[in-house]
Amino acid sequence: MSGSPAVVMRLVASAYAVAEKAGTIVRKVLHSGELGIVEKTGANDLQTLADRLAQQSICSSLSKRFPKITIIGEEDLPSEEIQEDLIETGQSEEILQRSCPPEFSQLKEEEIVVWVDPLDGTKEYTEASRCLHFQAVAQAPHKGLDTPQPHSTALWLLDNVTVLIGIAYGGRAIAGVINQPFYNYQLGAGTQLGRTMWGMLGLGAFGFQLQEVPGDRRIVTTTRSHSNKLVTDCVDAMEPHEVVRVGGAGNKIIQLVEGKASAYVFASPGCKKWDTCAPEAILHAVGGKLTDMHGNAYRYDASVKHMNSAGVLATLRNHEYYVSRVPQSVLQALKSD
Ligand code: AMP
Ligand code: MG
Ligand code: MG
Repeated sequence: MSGSPAVVMRLVASAYAVAEKAGTIVRKVLHSGELGIVEKTGANDLQTLADRLAQQSICSSLSKRFPKITIIGEEDLPSEEIQEDLIETGQSEEILQRSCPPEFSQLKEEEIVVWVDPLDGTKEYTEASRCLHFQAVAQAPHKGLDTPQPHSTALWLLDNVTVLIGIAYGGRAIAGVINQPFYNYQLGAGTQLGRTMWGMLGLGAFGFQLQEVPGDRRIVTTTRSHSNKLVTDCVDAMEPHEVVRVGGAGNKIIQLVEGKASAYVFASPGCKKWDTCAPEAILHAVGGKLTDMHGNAYRYDASVKHMNSAGVLATLRNHEYYVSRVPQSVLQALKSD
């Protein structure tokens, strides 16, 4: 390779290290037991100290190195002096060594938009924390849980949590990094905590083993905590052999690329651009597709509306089948932008 790496490769290489740092923050806050939960629009829309610190870390680290890039984070935070120890300066050497796909090699910082979800699956994160009894039970006596949950449930919920950094150019999601802080999580015992996946159009996706659901089984994955009648009607219309209800947009794309689900179906507003940008880039990098319920693409320019109002439909294969099954009631309720 001649000359210094393209801007976008340096950005992805930094985003990789920054996402790992954010994952460390997410684990640390869980262990502290002080989640600092704030309700944003309601009880199903939460923010914790981990969301706040991870976003500060990601946005400050990236804007320090790439000052002209537009960075849009999920959390609305006061602009204040950031603690020095939140800044990550590392870069993935492996990514820096890769050749940039020609169509992106000349991108300038000011043409790039980064969408940041510092902690996707916050609902599951808080529930897992309660399961682990890190929080004072007296203050939140199994809120939302019928019975005390065993540790295995907490571990399963923690698997739903991801850190998402999506990179867009010309309105398209072109690259993404996903850190899964609790992958292979063994309380206090894991040697390698978490994992990081990344992908780029024209290069492929890395950090996991790409797999498809065997045979023609339709395994539909959907929300576990933001459901409604439209969502369940739409899932039923897909005539699934199996339905997998898990938290997080990032996690549901992981289900698709690791062959645990054939389609992610969410016929409701609620998901935002920071939820879908990084996952979409990784999914598209391996030949999959993410659209609204009409089969139309979302755009990721800096000026777009944040809400994915027309729902999320994502697949690795056979996207047309799932689009064709979406009921009229859903199409009428969820208009494309
Ligand atoms: P879920 O599949 O329910 O985990 O949702 C995926 C992402 O979309 C998460 O970041 C959620 O916070 C977000 N989301 C989905 N529906 C809603 C909603 N009704 N209110 C707030 N956030 C939502
Ligand atoms: Mg999210
Ligand atoms: Mg979030």
